[in-house]
Amino acid sequence: MEDQLDQLVGKDGCPKCGSENITPVKYTWWGGVLGPKILHHTKCNACKFLYNSKTRKSNTTGIIVYSVILFVIAFVVFFLLRTSFSF
Ligand SMILES: [Zn+2]
Repeated sequence: MEDQLDQLVGKDGCPKCGSENITPVKYTWWGGVLGPKILHHTKCNACKFLYNSKTRKSNTTGIIVYSVILFVIAFVVFFLLRTSFSF
């Protein structure tokens, strides 16, 4: 019962402290403008907790996945450019 209550309280607020003083993150060093948008990155101004407003969980895994995908894309682009411009 207590777990159910906790889920109901602060449904739109911070999943950690329940504060409604939250703002969507517009820009991050790891994802630029696009990354936080894709991951629904949201910041709680009360406890500084960063999370995904859709899953209501920490975005750490999402950030790692996003970084890996970006790295792979960068690598593929680099490889293709190298192949097409090799003399
Ligand atoms: Zn909070």
